[in-house]
Amino acid sequence: MRPVIPKCSLCRRVQDDGETEVDQGIWSDLRVFLIKYDLRPIDVVFSHTFCPECAHAYRNAVLYGMPQSLKVSGDAGS
Ligand SMILES: [Zn+2]
Repeated sequence: MRPVIPKCSLCRRVQDDGETEVDQGIWSDLRVFLIKYDLRPIDVVFSHTFCPECAHAYRNAVLYGMPQSLKVSGDAGS
């Protein structure tokens, strides 16, 4: 089974779980990541997400451009 690698949809970096605690959770350039682990793009499955920096930037963009009707409220309902 191919490993699932979280990949940022905006900056295209991938999350590197790392082999040591220091490495854990860092976001690396895709090519650097593939070389580091000697992988080919077809060896892994990418799950599209946002890295923390892009998530923050994206959230700000959404909030500033967002119509009032879509304003985030504490009540999500169900
Ligand atoms: Zn990103």
